[in-house]
Amino acid sequence: MPGGHASPHTAGHLHPGKHLMDTTPTPAGRPLAVWKGLTVSYVTPWAGERNISRDHLLLDNGGLRYSDEHSEDRDPRGGLWERWDGTYGDGAPQFGPFNSERQHTAMEHLLCQVCARPADRTTKGYLFLEPGRATVSKLEGSRTVQPPLCLPCALIARAQCPRLRNYVALRARKPSVWGLYGTAYVSCPRLAQRPTSSLAVDRECSVAYGTPELPYVLGNQLVREYRRVTIVNLDEEAARHTA
Ligand SMILES: [Zn+2]
Repeated sequence: MPGGHASPHTAGHLHPGKHLMDTTPTPAGRPLAVWKGLTVSYVTPWAGERNISRDHLLLDNGGLRYSDEHSEDRDPRGGLWERWDGTYGDGAPQFGPFNSERQHTAMEHLLCQVCARPADRTTKGYLFLEPGRATVSKLEGSRTVQPPLCLPCALIARAQCPRLRNYVALRARKPSVWGLYGTAYVSCPRLAQRPTSSLAVDRECSVAYGTPELPYVLGNQLVREYRRVTIVNLDEEAARHTA
């Protein structure tokens, strides 16, 4: 169900006049994809989709860039994002990781990670599910790569996702954009004679926007920070929703 831990685009102009990454969601969301009886999240990649970032990725003094970089490769905060190829719904769903474009869209616009419609929001904030048990003090200021949910999809996620066997439902009034989760790269001088091999994966990491490390990390997931958290009872929320 919800994509992996760790770990979205359409027409539209969020910032008219600027050349920015286009992550405007489709207004109507998506019909729920079902595979072998399981609902497949919007953010889940399919076997026919693959990360093709390495084809044109370079590292120079300014950090990572694509040799044929377009405005849509970089977000408004300067983060460079993975490139994916393939077709949504092609082959089997790959439960666990995220399709970075769709995670980005859902997280950027606070869309439900399952159906891509606007996430549920009340005066207490947006609805999220986290695995395990947690207190407000533990959640407040903690970070997440899991986009929020609408109430119907939160119930599906709880029923289907093994990671949510124990879970906490929360609302956050200010789930602030914090940074990127992705792959940090370093250059390999010994391999420099072969330009396509002169980049090496350093590690997977989270990096805050505005920091010196940001130019060296290729974004796979957008990270938000929970602010003004309230723990809620999902069944009571659902009952109120359907009342
Ligand atoms: Zn939904």
